[in-house]
Amino acid sequence: MNRLILVSNRLPFALEPVGDGQWIAAPSPGGLVSALGPVLRGRGGTWIGWPGVAGDVPGTSFAEATRDAGYKVVPVALSEAERDEFYYGYSNEVIWPLFHDLQSFCHFEPAFWETYKAVNERYADAIARHCQPGDFIWVHDYHLMYVAQALRERSVHAALTFFLHIPFPPFDIFAKLPQQQRLLRALLQFDLLGFQTRRDLRNFLQCVRRVLPDARVFPSSGLQHIRFGGRAIRAGRFPIGIDFESFEQGALSEDVARRARELRAAFPGCQLMLGIDRLDYSKGIPERLRAFRVALERHRELRGRVVLIQNVVPSRVEIPRYHEFKDRIDRLVGDTNGRFSTDTWLPVHYRFRSLDRDDLLAHYRACEIALVTPLKDGMNLVAKEYCACCVDQDDGVLILSHFAGAAEQLKPGAVLVNPYDVEQVADAIFKVFRMSDAEHSVRMKRMRRIVRNEDVFWWVDLFLKAGSQLAARSAQTAGRRLAKQR
Ligand code: UDP
Repeated sequence: MNRLILVSNRLPFALEPVGDGQWIAAPSPGGLVSALGPVLRGRGGTWIGWPGVAGDVPGTSFAEATRDAGYKVVPVALSEAERDEFYYGYSNEVIWPLFHDLQSFCHFEPAFWETYKAVNERYADAIARHCQPGDFIWVHDYHLMYVAQALRERSVHAALTFFLHIPFPPFDIFAKLPQQQRLLRALLQFDLLGFQTRRDLRNFLQCVRRVLPDARVFPSSGLQHIRFGGRAIRAGRFPIGIDFESFEQGALSEDVARRARELRAAFPGCQLMLGIDRLDYSKGIPERLRAFRVALERHRELRGRVVLIQNVVPSRVEIPRYHEFKDRIDRLVGDTNGRFSTDTWLPVHYRFRSLDRDDLLAHYRACEIALVTPLKDGMNLVAKEYCACCVDQDDGVLILSHFAGAAEQLKPGAVLVNPYDVEQVADAIFKVFRMSDAEHSVRMKRMRRIVRNEDVFWWVDLFLKAGSQLAARSAQTAGRRLAKQR
């Protein structure tokens, strides 16, 4: 089996200062880490990424702190200026909004691109230093789309694979990117490109056809084939999953069950509707709050009988637009509560903080309805986690945006909505409020089956299988190249 070199913007460890120039590296848990950690330990491997603090990485204490990971951890250092222009700038003020179809939110500052390239080159240097012929190199996400180009320039001929966690936009939107050609050419230096959904894959192929006339796309029923610059590239759809077992078992634990009972008891006679999102304009939070307000205006039966628990996790608050966006949410919550609350009922319970894992699971388990209505989302793991935690007779309904990647898999059970159509979402809330337990159960059973079968371990296997043939081929080529040189 080939060794695995995993590359992501952030390492699965967060560095925290503890005084006297000392640091601790706390593991940051998550589905990706729980799925890839065992693979890295089993095959032997390396995880390369940024440890999350700007400035020099404290070498020895970092190595010490990550010694128990069971695999090698290689930090890439970023200065404050690089973090601002590469991470906040190009990644999150250009690519993030554009790839979520929100081009008017983009800040197309030319200097951002130069720093993006330079930082991607630094990641490429780290990979080149640590890889050997035959390694399986797997690069993750939109921060690192230039890495393969930089590696080829460093004469790394290993098989390079890439997975994009966020959506890929249609041509009319992608065409607004000043670096459209350079970015696509760089992406085509990978050997395998993975996307979340059929729609993302289709958009990507459409962009390749329109932006790069010298590339040829050969449609196929499985992996798609592209020929570019004398090389063969494959592209496919690999919808990411969650660690279903761990969410289900967690939701069944006594502690979570108790917290879920307490949460329900706090709102007697009410159905609980849950919104959980990072603070991000792509999540459709204001539209959701407006839809709930319309639902209360149109359907008086909901008043005093439904509560929206909206939890927003602080995120990217360094970017001014995120500040303005939070103010909008605050005002909408205030307006709805001001208009509809009574002495005994508050329609929106709003929190601006992160929940710990048990609390998160208790919210999933306690709420009869989940409102997951992003304007656009790569996948949306909250939708899947909610299904995994509906352990009480499959009770729970998911109102899900058409534009979340998860909709492609969950459409047999979810109530699908257009998040921009606040009247439609309002009517969906009312429909779900009156839905029978039997229908809840049928719908939830379907979704739970899909989320269980297509979990994060399935996803890792699917991608590694697709990539391993390429890695084997590239090892043979490298062998031949070496023999010739001798
Ligand atoms: N999450 C969390 N604490 C919270 C709320 C959410 O840890 O208080 C996690 C949640 O379990 C999920 C992730 O944040 O795994 C959000 O992922 P998603 O794909 O829904 O959206 P993203 O934030 O990645 O855009």
